[in-house]
Amino acid sequence: MSETILVTGGTGFIGSHATVVLQQAGYRVLILDNLCNSAISVLDAIAEITGQRPDFVQGDVRDRQALDALFRSRAISAVLHFAGLKAVGESTQKPLDYYDNNVHGSTTLLAAMRQAGVRTFVFSSSATVYGDPQKLPLTEDHPRSATNPYGHTKLVVEDMLENLYRSEPGWRIARLRYFNPVGAHPSGLIGEAPQGVPNNLMPYVAQVATGRRPRLQVYGNDYDTPDGTGVRDYIHVMDLALGHVAALRRCQQAGQEMLTVNLGTGVGYSVLDMVKAFEQASGKAVAYDIAPRRPGDIAACWADTELAFQTLGWRATKDIREMCEDAWRWEAMQAARAG
Ligand code: NAD
Ligand code: UDP
Repeated sequence: MSETILVTGGTGFIGSHATVVLQQAGYRVLILDNLCNSAISVLDAIAEITGQRPDFVQGDVRDRQALDALFRSRAISAVLHFAGLKAVGESTQKPLDYYDNNVHGSTTLLAAMRQAGVRTFVFSSSATVYGDPQKLPLTEDHPRSATNPYGHTKLVVEDMLENLYRSEPGWRIARLRYFNPVGAHPSGLIGEAPQGVPNNLMPYVAQVATGRRPRLQVYGNDYDTPDGTGVRDYIHVMDLALGHVAALRRCQQAGQEMLTVNLGTGVGYSVLDMVKAFEQASGKAVAYDIAPRRPGDIAACWADTELAFQTLGWRATKDIREMCEDAWRWEAMQAARAG
């Protein structure tokens, strides 16, 4: 009998790809998602890719009764916790929603796990916890700070996990700090599907390439970077997903564990690098204007990847060409479906 992993937020962008690789690694997956930012049809797409439909419960990680029932009804061995809200701008408008979903959601889930005796937990943290980098590449011991409510919620949950780990034996916790996840499953069947106007660069670029949006606004070309535009460490979502399987395995092998690792490629690309790579992958022109800097943005950010390699034996392998080709396939297939 294969083990069952609870994946919260499993119909979302990263959770759906993690579900695919977990199933391919031999795990059974039970998804808990309230569908506030994803569609139930993702389950069909996962089934088409893997030949196996994940179990699904529509519910909220803040609903303690539902969680208790879930843990009672199935033998869950570990939890990968993706559920949460992630839009930086929106978090400044609706801070209470962010604390409620991201912090209260995590405390409720952890309390239910504790009661059920499930103590293996993989958490979606973010490179946003490094604030404005003092030095690059970013190592995991870089001082942490946050400039917006979303970032604060990640700091709070990271700290809470540390406190919990120290409070009693047996917890096996991984705090995974993602850099910039992009791309899609190579089948084109699952990918990133933002509601409304995308906040992030790659989905915006993809929508300009399909003609859904007229032009990209490049937020600033006067940063201290090679071409003046912002530099980020973009990581293919399938590489990111594999990093979770590696972290889960490492936790499961340990008696107790508190891991904090970057999941990035170690390479930074500028906004204009990404635009060019996307044009090459899609064969479409991506029109853009240079716009003012976006408030709160940093100039450059990329990961030191050594700790992830040493502790997990994991490295990202997909380059920006694959990131753009896979993102384009997903976007073009979605556009074709929409007619
Ligand atoms: P996403 O919005 O695509 O997926 C999140 C999923 O969680 C959605 O399916 C949504 O319906 C669900 N959800 C939200 N609140 C819920 C709740 N209270 N109860 C149950 N389900 C709920 O986002 P994503 O990009 O897949 O991000 C997953 C995680 O990774 C988030 O915690 C996010 O903060 C973190 N992260 C994402 C990025 C990124 O750039 N995408 C970067 C760093 C960290
Ligand atoms: N960016 C941009 N236009 C957009 C969205 C993003 O120029 O419409 C830039 C942004 O300023 C940053 C980079 O693209 O330099 C990545 O932004 P994203 O929001 O995707 O990620 P994050 O800022 O969280 O790293």
